[in-house]
Amino acid sequence: MPFDPIATPTVRTAPNREPAFRHEAQEEAAQQKLEALRQRTGKRPNFLVILMDDVGWGDFGCYGGGIAVGAPTPNIDRLAREGLLLTSCYSEPSCSPSRATLLTGRVPNRHGLQRPPMYGEPGGLEDEVTIARILSEAGYSTQAVGKWHLGEALASQPQNVGFDDFYGFLSVSDMYTEWRDPHFFPEIVYSDARTEWVKNMPFNRSFVHATRGNEPEQVEEVTIPVLSLLDDKWRQYSVDYIRRMAGSDQPWFLLHGTRGAHFDNYPHPDYLGVSPAKHPYKDTLIELDAIVGSLVDCLKETGQLENTLVFISSDNGPHMETWPDAAYTPFRCAKGSTWEGGVRVPGIISWPGTVAAGGQSDGLFDFNDILPTFAALAGAADRVPTDRFIDGVDQSSFLVTEGGLSNRKYHYYWLVDTFSGLRVGEYKWMRAATSDSVTDAWGPGGFTGVTEHYTYAKLFNLYLDPKEQHNYMTRKLAYVEAFQAGARNHMATFRAYPPKRVLGPRPAST
Ligand code: CA
Repeated sequence: MPFDPIATPTVRTAPNREPAFRHEAQEEAAQQKLEALRQRTGKRPNFLVILMDDVGWGDFGCYGGGIAVGAPTPNIDRLAREGLLLTSCYSEPSCSPSRATLLTGRVPNRHGLQRPPMYGEPGGLEDEVTIARILSEAGYSTQAVGKWHLGEALASQPQNVGFDDFYGFLSVSDMYTEWRDPHFFPEIVYSDARTEWVKNMPFNRSFVHATRGNEPEQVEEVTIPVLSLLDDKWRQYSVDYIRRMAGSDQPWFLLHGTRGAHFDNYPHPDYLGVSPAKHPYKDTLIELDAIVGSLVDCLKETGQLENTLVFISSDNGPHMETWPDAAYTPFRCAKGSTWEGGVRVPGIISWPGTVAAGGQSDGLFDFNDILPTFAALAGAADRVPTDRFIDGVDQSSFLVTEGGLSNRKYHYYWLVDTFSGLRVGEYKWMRAATSDSVTDAWGPGGFTGVTEHYTYAKLFNLYLDPKEQHNYMTRKLAYVEAFQAGARNHMATFRAYPPKRVLGPRPAST
């Protein structure tokens, strides 16, 4: 039977692993290609993940944005042309759940960061196995630069969950600045008592440098003028790392999390007003594009481009409650929701000579696929944990095969601790979602509204109806059992591997 994402069954390889498609010929060809590369370079591949913050699926030119939305992105567009552009790359609905999913290969209800920790809240990654730890134990150098936001507690900081070194901030951009800006918080800025009160909250107001196992050193307090320079300082730190590693025998993993373009954006002075839109969000996007150009140029100059897989993405969709300091998505709703606008993010894979140029795929790719994929490419598949459930599937054959097929059948949508639905092929089956009919000051933001549990599940055809406007269920009842079986099997994994929670009840706002 020819392959079809809905009709073709998956194979379960272990009780703790998400079942995946078995594309045997693709797998074999990929292995040969990767073996040839290993022979050529004599080294395992490097991994560079450039993870932007709150940048939308539609922002980059290669996704239909760019000059059309007031911020050209020539470097990112070139990288996409020279590599593989994924149109169905999925994050989680907000920062920390996505980042933890990327690093652990697990959905939020397993790693426990169902929502972002704020202002020094305890809880993070301390009991998790990250891809950084796996690669490190397999002999890689591991470096994290930029935004972390996976728990500020010492045990959850990057240098204690698998990274050799960290240079960046532990929380999220707005927490350093919003209470300092009289436009947003006049009642704090003009009150000594409240300013003092914020300063006594248990979060670290500086960006830090930390080395494996050690307490972080404070580099500099993040005031608004300091914040506007952070992305450039972090770019320089990553460039220095890439240069240094060119002379090393060790392969490496660099997680570069940008500050931009999370609200509130205060662009570097060199970028202020440079976008056709003349808006700080768009100016920041232009700076981010230049940062991508700078990191890739450095790989090229140091002769490491051919042996480095670069993945560029964003941790969630637009934050619409802060519009116009917000990204662009052509899809429904925004960050905080499981509508496509919240979780469908850009996904660009570049690896010249190994990932074919000019590729585009709508095959499903999930942030949780990064862990098993990188582990497999590093020859460390046997280090993927067996004592916990891993939701990611190994996508290496999908990525390195020209015209390759995704090995993933389902994407599961999680809304905090609620199972929202699943996607398979072009269909999205939803049994709970954020109501987005509520209109606040700026329109349908994903943090606005309530969680609705549908009496009957809704069905959307994402090819005919990418904005999820038309419930197609009644006309498509033949699929119902297939979708319900997918959901039942996923939920059954939580009986054998119970869900985890590391944060308290959700705060009134995130
Ligand atoms: Ca984010």
